[in-house]
Amino acid sequence: MKAGIYLDHNASSPIRPEAAAAVMNALQVTGNPSSVHTAGRNARAVIEDAREAVASLLNAKRQQVVFTSGATEANNLALRGCGADRILVSAIEHDSILHAADVEKIPVTPDGILDLDALETMLAKGQGEAPRTLVSVMSVNNETGVIQPVGKAADIARRFGAMVHTDAVQAVGKIPLDFSDLDVDMLSFSAHKLGGPRGVGVLLVKPSIELEPVNRGGGQEGRRRGGTENVSGIAGLGAAISVAGREDNALLRLEEMRLQMERRLQEELSGSIVLGQGAPRIATTTCFALPGIEASKQVMALDLLGFDVSAGAACSSGKVHASHVVSAMGYGDDIASSAIRISLGWSTTPEEVSSFTQAYIGWARKLCGGN
Ligand code: PMP
Repeated sequence: MKAGIYLDHNASSPIRPEAAAAVMNALQVTGNPSSVHTAGRNARAVIEDAREAVASLLNAKRQQVVFTSGATEANNLALRGCGADRILVSAIEHDSILHAADVEKIPVTPDGILDLDALETMLAKGQGEAPRTLVSVMSVNNETGVIQPVGKAADIARRFGAMVHTDAVQAVGKIPLDFSDLDVDMLSFSAHKLGGPRGVGVLLVKPSIELEPVNRGGGQEGRRRGGTENVSGIAGLGAAISVAGREDNALLRLEEMRLQMERRLQEELSGSIVLGQGAPRIATTTCFALPGIEASKQVMALDLLGFDVSAGAACSSGKVHASHVVSAMGYGDDIASSAIRISLGWSTTPEEVSSFTQAYIGWARKLCGGN
């Protein structure tokens, strides 16, 4: 199989060499991290080093870090473990939030930004009925890259005495995040979106939350997540986050590449749309619609040309359907089912982006008879 040009970092980023090395080293460390003997303590030390790296990058306290098997588990733990009797979430959340519990959806604007007035109205309506309300708003949307006003949402939530969670999977390492400063109680993220291994993630939890474990039957992670920790995965996460935290210049370069690509695509392909273009976005993500051409068709054609991109949020099922994110922004099915996501990351080069741009334009123009 020929190696493609990989432009699907929001689904999973290639592993960074530093993270791969940390995983390999940790695999050599024998012992259950809960054992008291020397081998166990060696394994424990690997976990605690990674905990320190996470706490230091996100300005959290070490005891606030709960390692999980990924962001899906972290999101489930947040929503189901915080004791909420009412949960409000943005309509553009990842399925791991939308399906973790019974949730009420807060609408977004046509630019894909949380509608803060709607949040306030919803909170006011239910006041007094649900003593423990949780508001969960993602930091950055995984399909559009639009940065969400989590701080402002938290201010509103606090006025109604609500708890606050943010799914920061697409934000960690891409925008500054300070867990102590940000007025949220819980924050989730995942290693494989920042160049760490798949199958490991974190929930940060402040003492304001008495978290009930979802995985019961072990006292690990401060009795908040039972089960022997994924020592090598956690080591890889720690290494990845340490490198990702030092990458401001790389992000500026990626942003330049992305903007140039968007300019060319829009110039050459009439009728095309960059979703969320008017909103603040992270450096690395473009959600691009070519109305009338199914996203699945685009993704397959690009795959044959040697480019890995994705359609909508199909990072788990592989099935392509109209994007719930684009639909929530008020677009019809023609656009919601024709949007693809191009996401850059730490390993992306300018040559890769320009080669993709050229190939995509060439393919689309041919398909539309030279338009
Ligand atoms: N939240 C968001 C915003 C995501 O993009 C993803 C991954 N697609 C997840 C949660 C789930 O993360 P994981 O793969 O670690 O379970």
